Parts: sequence; structure tokens; C-alpha cells
Amino acid sequence: MDTIIDIVNTRDPFEKEFHQAVKEVAESVKPVLDKNPEYRHAGIVERMIEPERVIQFRVPWVDDQGVVRVNRGFRIQMNSAIGPYKGGLRLHPSVNLSILKFLAFEQVFKNALTTLPMGGGKGGSDFDPSGKSDNEVMRFCQSFMCELFRHLGPDTDVPAGDIGVGAREIGYLFGMYKKLRNEFASVLTGKSLNWGGSLIRPEATGYGVVFFAAEMLAVKNDTLKDKVCLVSGSGNVAQYTVEKLNQMGAKVVTLSDTSGYIYDERGIDKDKLQYVMYLKNVKRGRIKEYVQKYPEAVYMARDAGESHNPCCNHKADCAFPSATQNEINAQDAQNLINNGVSLVCEGANMPTTPEGIDVFLDNDVLYAPGKAANAGGVAVSGLEMSQNAMRIKWTANEVEDRLKGIMKSIHATCLSTAEEYGTLGNYVNGANIAGFVKVADAMMDQGIV
Ligand code: NDP
Repeated sequence: MDTIIDIVNTRDPFEKEFHQAVKEVAESVKPVLDKNPEYRHAGIVERMIEPERVIQFRVPWVDDQGVVRVNRGFRIQMNSAIGPYKGGLRLHPSVNLSILKFLAFEQVFKNALTTLPMGGGKGGSDFDPSGKSDNEVMRFCQSFMCELFRHLGPDTDVPAGDIGVGAREIGYLFGMYKKLRNEFASVLTGKSLNWGGSLIRPEATGYGVVFFAAEMLAVKNDTLKDKVCLVSGSGNVAQYTVEKLNQMGAKVVTLSDTSGYIYDERGIDKDKLQYVMYLKNVKRGRIKEYVQKYPEAVYMARDAGESHNPCCNHKADCAFPSATQNEINAQDAQNLINNGVSLVCEGANMPTTPEGIDVFLDNDVLYAPGKAANAGGVAVSGLEMSQNAMRIKWTANEVEDRLKGIMKSIHATCLSTAEEYGTLGNYVNGANIAGFVKVADAMMDQGIV
């Protein structure tokens, strides 16, 4: 395993998030490689850590003042052993090769866990949509697609949304793709309902996370009813996590954004959540406005110099980190435990640092890594592709039932795989090993490519 870490350290010395993701998987799959030396002989891990293709391009656009702006666009086509590349596009100033390679790498294993035929990819740009007008976002998306379109196709690469990319951006991207190709192809998921989108796709990641948490609790003969929950973020994943938690009788007391977080001891109920959806999806405002509308809640501005995440300092039973990578460090993990949290189910990708994960595992916290727990989003994206291919539309109940079935199956696979490798209850090992074996076997079948 040291060789693998050495390869990524030497080849890409500055890609620390990518190193973090590779190291976690490498540690989990060591016993698999020991048991199956043919994977070593075929250089499976060495090939998995090298993207099949990295596309980087200039994205020029003109802002509302007539000033030319230039951003950097990327698509990482990581692994297509089990299907076309599939994974979201992220628009955020922090986007760089390291972030996108870690996300693409995780996506390979996540997609394998869904049981659907999807390879892994990820893309995006360092464009910051916050504070931009609709027209600026449209011009950016059109320019981005003017390069990306040549790398997409229903059987080649099918991106979706991620941070900063929701229904509005998918619409602008699709419009330009269609104009350039003169075809209405299923090359993006997360489309609006009236032109090829799937019911439950917006809800899928958050709902799936909650279904996964319910499965983890069921193993302990427990449920989410009356559980006090901390949720971070206030975007797509956080919103639908809150919605499903409310439906299951839990009470959510926090939400956050890049500026700070709110704590509402009485709970973010259905009406308050409707307001959050309006605030973040329509008004595109800040979470602090919540306390103007609901003065019983408190707002804490983010202190960039702080060494820990104050959102973790509240009494609760469960935590659902749903903002971004590395938002929970070892101290936050310990604070969560000290405040009574015994279940952590990740909506975001890699929101917990390796040291934080160790704290959870050492303290027998029921801990679900994002690559298993948040796979519901890409799973319903896969179902959107199936519906597009068959030119039919399933009802919301049908899609939600399929989503629930997929989350149940991912949970069962993680649990049984962890047990098979002697680490009962370790969902990190379960997810990494099960995803790895599926992709590795396909790569073995397909030769050295
Ligand atoms: P959104 O853009 O809808 O929301 C992101 C939220 O997180 C916003 O509230 C944003 O705050 C906040 N946030 C972003 N960066 C930071 C940061 N550095 N510090 C604190 N808060 C931050 O994105 P999603 O909800 O779609 O994605 C959230 C996470 O879930 C990501 O890790 C994503 O990769 C993962 N994910 C998403 C899926 C999907 O289907 N959308 C599928 C699987 C995983 P602000 O409003 O200030 O920008």
C-alpha cells in the first residue's frame, strides 16, 4: 500500500484531497489484495488511481458590466469499467484538480455500490455562482458546455449537479448541448420534470441518506422517531435530508451555509423548511435570514480562524454533515460524541477528516461514509437515464420505492462485506471493499486498458 501512496504523492504532490481519498480506500482494500494476488498482478489499484482521461479547458464569458471573465473548466473521466462515466459538476471557487479527482475517485466506488451500470467521473469549474445574475450564470454555463459537449454522450459520459449546480444550471447546460449537437440526448441528469427529468431526483440524495440511517438504526432495533438531529449545509442535500427526517418523526435543530449556522431548538418543521427552500433556492439568500423570520432561533456567524465547527456543539442523537469536504475534524467528532451523538450519516462527500473518522470508529459511533450513504442521488440519476432510454416516466412512489430498495441493498452489502473481512459494523471498509471488488472484477475481464 505504501507504493500506492508513494505514487500519488510523487505524481501529484499538491493534491491533498485526492491523496486523502486514495489512502482511505487503499487501507480498506489491503486484505482484499492479500487474498486475491491476481488484482496486484493486473495493476488494478495502480490503474484505478490514474484517471482514464482528464479534460481541462478555458471558460471565457462576459459579465453584466461587459467585462471578460475567464474560469477554468474540468471533467475527470475516472473509470468506465462498469458503465459510462457518471458524476456531478461542481461550481465553486475552491474547485481544482485535487478536489475533482477525489470526488471522481469516490464516485467510482459509490456508483458500483448502487448496483446500476455506471462508471465514475466528476467535473466543474472554479466559477462562483453566488452573487451572479441569472444571465451571467447562463452565459457561463453556455461557454462551459461549448467545450464539454464533445466529451459527453448517453453511453460515454453523463454529468449531473453538485455544489452550485441545480435545476437552473442543468437547464442552461442542456440547452447549449442541444443546440450544438442538434439532438435531444440523455447526457445530463437532474433535468426539470417537463423535459426528461425524473420525479424524486431533487429529493434523492437527502432521502437516500435518511433511508440509510434508518437501516443502520434498524440493526440496533432503533428508529429515527424523536431523534434530535444536526444537519449542516442548507443546499439540495441538506434540505431533503431535513424533509425526510421530519417525515420520519425526527427533529432537526441546525442548518448552515458558508457564512454561519442557525440553531433552532424547537426544530425546523415543514413550514420552516419551506421558507429555507425559498430562501436558498429562489431568493438565493443567506441562512442568517432564518432568524429574522423565526426569532426563536439563534444565528452564529462563521469565524474563519476557529479550529472547530461550532455546529457540532449541540446536544443531539444523530448528525448528517451535508455541506462539503473536511467540515468535521477530530475535535468536532469528539464534540459530537460528548453531546450524545451516536450516529453520523454523511450527506456530503468526505465531510469527515481521517482523524475524525478514527474518533467515530474508536467510540463505536454508527458511522456511514458518504460514498455509501449519499449514493441515492446518483442512483436516481441512473433511474433517470433508464426512464429516458425507455421514453417512459415512473411515478414518484415508484421512484422512491426503487430508491429505498437501492439504499437497503447498499446498506446490506456494506454490512455483510465488513463482516466477511472481519470488521463487523465498519461501514467504511464495507463500502470501500464492496465497491472495489465490483470494479476490479470488471477491469480484470476487460484486460489491460
Ligand atoms: P448545494 O450547492 O445545493 O449546497 C451546498 C451547501 O453547503 C450550501 O448551503 C453551501 O453554503 C454549503 N457549503 C458549501 N461549501 C461550504 C464550505 N466550504 N463551508 C461551509 N458550507 C459550505 O450542494 P449540494 O447540497 O448538492 O451538495 C452538498 C454536498 O453533498 C457536497 O459535498 C456534494 O458533493 C454532496 N453530494 C451531492 C449530491 C447531489 O445530488 N446534489 C449527491 C451526492 C453528494 P452557501 O449557500 O453559502 O454556498
